[in-house]
Amino acid sequence: MSEKKNTLAIERTFTMIKPDGVERGLIGEILGRFEKRGLKIIALKMVKPSVEHIDNHYPKDDTWIARLGDKGFNCFAEYGLNPKEVMGTDNNLEAGKMVRQWLVDYMIEAPVVAMVIEGIHAIEMVRKITGSTLPNKAEIGTIRGDFSVDSPAAANLNKRSIKNLIHASETKAEAENEIKHWFSEEEIHPDYDRADHAAMF
Ligand code: UDP
Ligand code: MG
Repeated sequence: MSEKKNTLAIERTFTMIKPDGVERGLIGEILGRFEKRGLKIIALKMVKPSVEHIDNHYPKDDTWIARLGDKGFNCFAEYGLNPKEVMGTDNNLEAGKMVRQWLVDYMIEAPVVAMVIEGIHAIEMVRKITGSTLPNKAEIGTIRGDFSVDSPAAANLNKRSIKNLIHASETKAEAENEIKHWFSEEEIHPDYDRADHAAMF
């Protein structure tokens, strides 16, 4: 095994191809984007999660739920839409609770592909490759920007979550919790070398 370098920058993050990514046949495309960038997949499985498992995957605190509501409200403001007309409320927490429920419904529509990715600044790099939460805002070149145009204005009127193909941990704490929530120690396999890394780093 080669000598490990630059270990201070090496992080682990949790990533998951959501039901629409699986149903659209984009598993290979998405995995390839991470692999080609020099990130190493160290755990991988297809799962049909229970409602409870998904419910416990997403945070339950009011701050996070209100943020979900706000992401939609910001979009409505930009397109001149009235939150009360779209959501039936202009309270971000109430709206966030509805979005969270639609999100759970979405995440159990079909199997997901869960993985742990290791690499240099992996949390930030995976988020960057993933793109903005709202596909209508995501940059071209990101997974969400290249494969979707969905937006809260389109999704919420139809009482569904935005379909944005992929989940990626946002912070170190989120990554640690999510890795533990989805994988046991035995399912994580960091002990192999990528041949291309000898040339890359
Ligand atoms: N979501 C949604 N409508 C919104 C905001 C979020 O359907 O207005 C869904 C979307 O699937 C998103 C998930 O809720 O990926 C979790 O939201 P978060 O703010 O954590 O975004 P992410 O970290 O996935 O970019
Ligand atoms: Mg998030």
